[in-house]
Amino acid sequence: MSTYFISENSWQKFIQSLSRTVSVYYPEAAGEDYHLAPALQGAPPPLLFNRYRTVQPLKSLFFEFRRGVGSYFGGSGEEERGGEQVVVGMKGCDLKAMAVLDFVFAGEVPDPFYLRNRERTLIISSDCTGFKKVCFCVLVGGKPHPEEGYDLNYTPLPEGSVVEVGTPKGMALVDRFKDYFAPATQEQLEQRAEARERVAALLTEHQKGYGYLWGGVTRELMERVFESPVWEEEAERCVECGACNFVCPSCHCFFLSDHGRENFRRVRNWDACQYKGFARVGGGANPRPELYQRLRTRYEKKFCFCPAVMGVNGCTGCGRCVEACIGKIDMREVLKRLSGCK
Ligand code: SF4
Ligand code: SF4
Repeated sequence: MSTYFISENSWQKFIQSLSRTVSVYYPEAAGEDYHLAPALQGAPPPLLFNRYRTVQPLKSLFFEFRRGVGSYFGGSGEEERGGEQVVVGMKGCDLKAMAVLDFVFAGEVPDPFYLRNRERTLIISSDCTGFKKVCFCVLVGGKPHPEEGYDLNYTPLPEGSVVEVGTPKGMALVDRFKDYFAPATQEQLEQRAEARERVAALLTEHQKGYGYLWGGVTRELMERVFESPVWEEEAERCVECGACNFVCPSCHCFFLSDHGRENFRRVRNWDACQYKGFARVGGGANPRPELYQRLRTRYEKKFCFCPAVMGVNGCTGCGRCVEACIGKIDMREVLKRLSGCK
């Protein structure tokens, strides 16, 4: 695909022009973190670049945490929400997770709300130039720069950014603002390659104590350790808050509930497999009554079920669950214990 160069000043104007006509979500710095926030209409973005992923997972723009999905007995129907939108600064871990959501919501039984959100959203992703200590994409086959799933991707260099086009939708946007973009030079592409290698090497070094996670090792490990006491020991610190599910960019479970006395509405909410009631069925039977069984099932889903059924890993190493867990359960440590590594 084509690559371009855009100066910092032009990037600012580009986002500013975009935000006059469509909704733009842009990362906002908050201490060491970045939040995904709606950019003010027509205003210059307060931040030019986020070094690593935002606190919110990208999934929240496509699979909303709560939304009406239908009505009956005189209900007024579910309104369509919003027009075109552009989301800026998403990282490779979030884009990889979208493959899981696409399988679930855009596969055999397509979800119209998800599809509509997919169609109306243009994704401008960017390379990571740093990482949080919880980031571990390199351990689960990822890289700290997006490889696919973006319409445009940008890599910051000292004077501006190299922009790579990923789709015809992205190309149309570059054409529309062509005054801001110039073809990238060979030297700029080399600078990009060096910058990418540098970050990947630093992150790999940072995670070197967990190197066994590479490739299919994790899947084979999960099949072997079903009866391990590690599950019960780790689950002792779990308080069943569900945060690990909610912050995960690839978790996608939900439940439906009905509301209203006359105009009934059916509402879809995010659900969490760590909750006791998650798998309970009519009559009260529960296949996973114990917390350790639910903790284990989350790992099995990500490292066995997703690769077997969807052909992709269910974990992209964003580290959000590690950061969010108030019981301080670290996925890398759990897998390390299970593998018997010291
Ligand atoms: S399981 Fe944890 S590290 Fe893996 S994608 Fe989900 S939140 Fe990120
Ligand atoms: S975030 Fe931690 S404490 Fe909360 S449900 Fe997940 S594992 Fe349990």
